[in-house]
Amino acid sequence: MAERYSQNLAQIAALALARRDEFEVLMYRLQDDDDLDDARLDQQIEALAAPIVAAIDCTQCANCCRHLRVYLEPEDTQRLANGLSLSQEALEDYLERSQAQQAGEWASLRLVPCAFLRDSMCSIYPHRPNACRLYPQFTPDFRWVLGDLLEGARLCPIIYHVLDALSQQIDAWLRE
Ligand code: SF4
Ligand code: SF4
Repeated sequence: MAERYSQNLAQIAALALARRDEFEVLMYRLQDDDDLDDARLDQQIEALAAPIVAAIDCTQCANCCRHLRVYLEPEDTQRLANGLSLSQEALEDYLERSQAQQAGEWASLRLVPCAFLRDSMCSIYPHRPNACRLYPQFTPDFRWVLGDLLEGARLCPIIYHVLDALSQQIDAWLRE
């Protein structure tokens, strides 16, 4: 039986590119709409995304780990240092800090693809940064994060399939 949600990355990239304008129209329709409030929309998107997230096996994909820069919250660096038994100084080998980041406390993992990726698996899974735990993030404020998700659709099968499902629901949602 054919899988319900394709995880073929080349196919997903091609479909996302071909449907880019269509998905952008979804975003404008949602942003122009005043009747469906943000909280209700977020609830509906989470319900739409749940079976897709459950069906897709991220351990067969890891495309986000190969292509996206991971930004770290301050608590991430402490958790990484503790989890990997590294001094803060040794941890710096894995981090990149731009001048702007040096002024604050934000850094990113230095390498893309991620240095902690091993054969499509995260080798530091219990200690991974918050951004990795949350990706792909649809809520809160789906209406306003949709612009970023449009970019992610070509990389991430979950995002692509959620946008595909949304395209089939939006008329009904905006009529309610
Ligand atoms: S830390 Fe783990 S989950 Fe995050 S990008 Fe690297 S390999 Fe992927
Ligand atoms: S979050 Fe998306 S890109 Fe990352 S591993 Fe899962 S399906 Fe692939």
